Amino acid sequence: MVREETINHEFISFISKRVQSIKPSQTLVIDAKAKALKQQGVDVINFGVGEPDFDTPGNIKKAAINAINDGFTKYCPVAGTPEIKNAIINKLKRDNNLSYTLEEIIVSSGAKHSLYNLFQSIINDDDEVIVLAPYWVSYTDMIILAGGKPIIIQAYDENFKITPKIVERVLTSKTKAIIINSPSNPAGVTYSSEELKAIMQICVKNKILVISDDIYEKLVYGNFKFTSVAAVSPEIKENVVVINGVSKAYAMTGWRIGYAAGPKNIISAMSKIQSQSTSNASSISIKAAVEALNGTQECVEFMRKEFEKRRDYIVERLNAIEGISCRKPDGAFYVFPNIKTLLGKTFNGKTISTDIDLADYLLDVAKIAVVPGSAFGVEGYVRFSYATSIENIKTGIDRMEIALK
Ligand code: PMP
Ligand code: GLU
Repeated sequence: MVREETINHEFISFISKRVQSIKPSQTLVIDAKAKALKQQGVDVINFGVGEPDFDTPGNIKKAAINAINDGFTKYCPVAGTPEIKNAIINKLKRDNNLSYTLEEIIVSSGAKHSLYNLFQSIINDDDEVIVLAPYWVSYTDMIILAGGKPIIIQAYDENFKITPKIVERVLTSKTKAIIINSPSNPAGVTYSSEELKAIMQICVKNKILVISDDIYEKLVYGNFKFTSVAAVSPEIKENVVVINGVSKAYAMTGWRIGYAAGPKNIISAMSKIQSQSTSNASSISIKAAVEALNGTQECVEFMRKEFEKRRDYIVERLNAIEGISCRKPDGAFYVFPNIKTLLGKTFNGKTISTDIDLADYLLDVAKIAVVPGSAFGVEGYVRFSYATSIENIKTGIDRMEIALK
């Protein structure tokens, strides 16, 4: 018999060191906080999460309803049905001029899941993955969970771009991969095909895998033309894994469909992990994603145009606030204003020393949710997601102006 007094519960932790070394996704934490306040009746404006406010288009919803009514509700192939894989292959050909075969595609439960499976597939203990700050919050923790080491590098300037020079500076014998996210979360950074080509040359020469996170490819503005890294020259395809999904372009965040396209051996490794963990992504969501990719693309252009108007509006409004300077990004649905001038100042009796203080203050006083830059590896900035209505943006920034007077 175990005597109760011999067990000191305080010192028992069943949690692995690996899990103890990561933190929850800060974007999702802030989103949950904003939604909880809203439920309590607090009128919060949520600039926190990167989630289109539009409803999923009707033709896509109908495809899912048909899937249910037709009994397409059973297990399906782990890496996705031939139908969805062919829809992805056609999309990659049509939009990105990339050619892939069925064995080079895997469908997962969101692009986040695709990235998770990818890191688990390629990383040996202490392998290094180059991540440019500001980075999407999940990259670094997913790398750590796989036993790897994120090599976080700060950009030289507010363009927040990775350059061949930077890559060369941080290369070691342990460098396994580099992440390119264009347009980027959180700063909306985009790369031209010339810039991508120059980075790729270094990566190919040094046998580094390039992870091209193209999730925001459809959300580009002005004259910017999106190029996927894999498309910059034909010989580099073997060095690239393309990550994409339907969440952002088709307002399908809750459906959880993402995919990866890349060398057969990597895709097969990802599929092995998936077969021992989650199995296929939801069969119903797969049918919806087939319709999203094969059906009319008018909804994508409609939402893109709306986002562009919101970007123009929020950038103008933010730049009109004393102490804030905001670059106009070419893509995604985030702005990442510099708030360094506000640090050290006191508003309504509260001194703002860090970007975290500012985000807390804005939530408490202005009732607007934003994510501090430090969550993305860069201090002195905050991220606004403008995937919310112009009315909400107007009200939110009005309140912010008052709170910072
Ligand atoms: N990559 C980036 C840069 C993102 O911002 C997101 C946002 N969720 C994802 C991947 C994952 O998207 P999802 O899992 O919804 O497909
Ligand atoms: N990627 C979005 C964001 O950055 C969704 C939340 C998440 O998955 O982190 O807000």
